[in-house]
Amino acid sequence: MFTRILRKVPCASASRTTCSMLVMALSLTTLPQAASAAGDYPYDATADTVFDIIRDSDPSTFLCLAYEGRTIRQMWDKRLDDESDLEVFHFTAHFSDMPAIDIILNPEFETPEAARREAQKYTRRLGQVPLVFRHGIRQFGIHAGDRGFHAGTGKVFVYAQMAERRIAENHLEESLLHEGVHATLDAEYRLAPEWIAAQQSDGRFLTRYAARRPDREDLAETALFAYSLLRHPGRIPPADSAVIARTTPARIAVIERILQRPLDIPPPTPPPEGCE
Ligand SMILES: [Zn+2]
Repeated sequence: MFTRILRKVPCASASRTTCSMLVMALSLTTLPQAASAAGDYPYDATADTVFDIIRDSDPSTFLCLAYEGRTIRQMWDKRLDDESDLEVFHFTAHFSDMPAIDIILNPEFETPEAARREAQKYTRRLGQVPLVFRHGIRQFGIHAGDRGFHAGTGKVFVYAQMAERRIAENHLEESLLHEGVHATLDAEYRLAPEWIAAQQSDGRFLTRYAARRPDREDLAETALFAYSLLRHPGRIPPADSAVIARTTPARIAVIERILQRPLDIPPPTPPPEGCE
């Protein structure tokens, strides 16, 4: 399995640096323990698991959504595999525990009212994502259509039809946590020596998705399960909790240190008049 994955590393589509880091991370994490567990991933991807780790009844720090008008912003769109300048619908989402997040919506939503209705699917749920995984989000872009969510430092992009499916599965909050990790923690931790050493020590991956992209997805994939085990142990069935604890003990310890680290976050942005 790991040999096959190594052959599938998309070096042609990655920069030389990215590719060599990917191969290095794979080779670091595929030494003896992993080889004996070849092909043995407990889960396919966190997005496909049924665990309800953030519950509807969990508190949210979301306060209100203010419409800021139309403005030109660049939005990366997976449907086009390109970034373009769009006259987006711009809102600011206000929270009681962090600065406001810019919410921008593709003009395809047509009216401010429709754009607000769409934005409201995410805002309370964003406020349910633990601050440690969310405070780096500066801009949250919303497209129509049905593509996988994606994120980079400070930015998250989602697609309305995919979000509808996640809501039907009661899983949108967990997806937002995953993307929040990309926006907030990836830059500091995904290639940090501490994380790479933990991957090497554990020698296995929790999900096939993390194993396929250990440099890009393992932190976000593992963080959700580790957070649940550490802070809401009753929300994953005992048998699965045991599997997760056995598969990634070193990485769970790193997540615990991240959870305990004091956060240095600017104060919340005061909501403007008419924020609702
Ligand atoms: Zn991801």
